[in-house]
Amino acid sequence: MKIHSIAIENLMVPCSNYCRYCLLSCNNDVNTEGYHKTEEFIRRIQTEMNELNINFNYYIGYCMDTPYLNDYLKLCREFNYSSADFLQLNGLRFRNLASLGEFIYNLKDNGIKLVDLTFYGTREFHDRFAGRKGDFDYLVDIIRTCNRLFVPVEISMPLFKDNLDQAEELYNFLNTLDIQRFFIFLPHSKGRGFRLENKRIDLNDYLSLPEVIKNNFTKVPVKTEAMWLEENDFPQEENRILTMVLKNNTDYLDLTAQEILDNLKEKDDYFYSKLPDNKTLAKMYGNSDSQLMYRKRDLIIKYRQLWAREHPDIPATIEEYNDFSIRF
Ligand code: SF4
Repeated sequence: MKIHSIAIENLMVPCSNYCRYCLLSCNNDVNTEGYHKTEEFIRRIQTEMNELNINFNYYIGYCMDTPYLNDYLKLCREFNYSSADFLQLNGLRFRNLASLGEFIYNLKDNGIKLVDLTFYGTREFHDRFAGRKGDFDYLVDIIRTCNRLFVPVEISMPLFKDNLDQAEELYNFLNTLDIQRFFIFLPHSKGRGFRLENKRIDLNDYLSLPEVIKNNFTKVPVKTEAMWLEENDFPQEENRILTMVLKNNTDYLDLTAQEILDNLKEKDDYFYSKLPDNKTLAKMYGNSDSQLMYRKRDLIIKYRQLWAREHPDIPATIEEYNDFSIRF
């Protein structure tokens, strides 16, 4: 299994939302190490990763509400990290319009060329889902501010049974603003996404969607579980991106890049060495009558989770250590 890249995620900023579906399983247990001490560590790791010839990426979260944002963006530009020109802005604390203008202006000044926002549905539903009253209107304020300052905005919307009938209204409303791209995706079951598994849309739901919404699905194919099983094309992934999430302690500061690499590989390999291959998993857990819609990758994630649940004696997946592995 090749390593495409290694990332370090520094969850150092509390998020003001509590989204029911949060890939990061946000609990606001943030890393409290000083920003600059961690940046020093990242610079050393970057140098060591270069020597190991490994692609390296660093990013912060849960949100961007940090007084060190400019330092972070400078670092991203220096090493061409993924946040150098693109930021996700959900979860910011509320600001008035003047202060929001200053915030977005500052982002633009620091090289941000695209802002991404996630909407869960129309106003009332979105606020409930995001766990914060007023969040919908605040995101609209962010879009209007970006429009005024000529910062492009893209919108994503996770689609599931409960918000299916809101997609078109949301799309039409957002198109009264200046949006560069609107895309729909089906949530996977990692993080708090497992809470949405029983809300997954089926083929009838999909077919009932207006054309304009179908046309705005991400380009990754979605099909029913039955169709994927019929195709029976479940090759093993050959690459992986491994991510270490910094914990709320100082232990990581002494780690070398080689130790990080070895540690992530060990945690990831151990679980997968016990796990049946994808074809076998599909045979074990696939439901050939199921009309539920999946991306192929998400179906495999679900089968792996089902297997892990049945094998509590087997070492935990890397996600259970709060780190991440994406195989592709
Ligand atoms: S805004 Fe983002 S980090 Fe915060 S709870 Fe929602 S999905 Fe999680």
